[in-house]
Amino acid sequence: MINVILSNLESIKKRHYAQKAKSTGYWVAFYESVLNRYKAQFGEDFNLIIYGDENLRDDFFSIPYIQLKDFLTEPHIDEQKRRWVFSIENNILRAHRNPKRVDIMEFRGNIIDIQPLYQYQTVKDLNKLQQRKEDTFQKDAEWLSQEELMRRIQSLDRGATHREGTTKYYQRRAIVSEYAKRRANGICQLCQHPAPFVDIRNKPYLEAHHVIWLSRNGDDTPENTAALCPNCHRKMHILNITSDQEIILSRISGGGE
Ligand SMILES: [Zn+2]
Ligand SMILES: [Zn+2]
Repeated sequence: MINVILSNLESIKKRHYAQKAKSTGYWVAFYESVLNRYKAQFGEDFNLIIYGDENLRDDFFSIPYIQLKDFLTEPHIDEQKRRWVFSIENNILRAHRNPKRVDIMEFRGNIIDIQPLYQYQTVKDLNKLQQRKEDTFQKDAEWLSQEELMRRIQSLDRGATHREGTTKYYQRRAIVSEYAKRRANGICQLCQHPAPFVDIRNKPYLEAHHVIWLSRNGDDTPENTAALCPNCHRKMHILNITSDQEIILSRISGGGE
């Protein structure tokens, strides 16, 4: 197992500014002269990549330059060495000589199992790839027989928290969401109206929703996943009213199995 940045360093450096973090405090410096070279070539469209442990495949952050632009300014530079110094702790990036902090969790290395890093250019591309991967697994799940789907739901690895972006994460997510949709049987689990339309396969269109959001430590399990019409789904994401949550949860546990 070797750090994916390190093993592709030559290609990556042609497109992105990559620096190794010192093991003590995940400390890293970006130099003005090097930064100016990337800016001259790519404008703002390149990433600052910080990688750590050589033996950990995913131990890196790949942050679009624009995200750190405000840090990389004259008032904050180390005047003698003409560089900006950062350290990272618990996914929070701290700049020396600057009180600002930035959460860089979303830029942690993750979808590396589908495409070598140097082939994507920006975080936008990365998100597109992730979406494509999610769609693929979703379609696979739709075609499963009821027996096979049930078998996979029953053997679901419940304790597992798969890192977002990994194959396992999307497979599991697709299985649970497909199961939740079939369980709802074409009826929204909040407003209880039939799905507003059928999809191209003539199946009622509903969307899977995590009652306790994953970002708030909700589980990716059938007990926490509902099938909602698009309107109710939007409502949950905009208002997320507790009484609505309770209604949905009671309908999930009430069966329809
Ligand atoms: Zn609804
Ligand atoms: Zn949702």
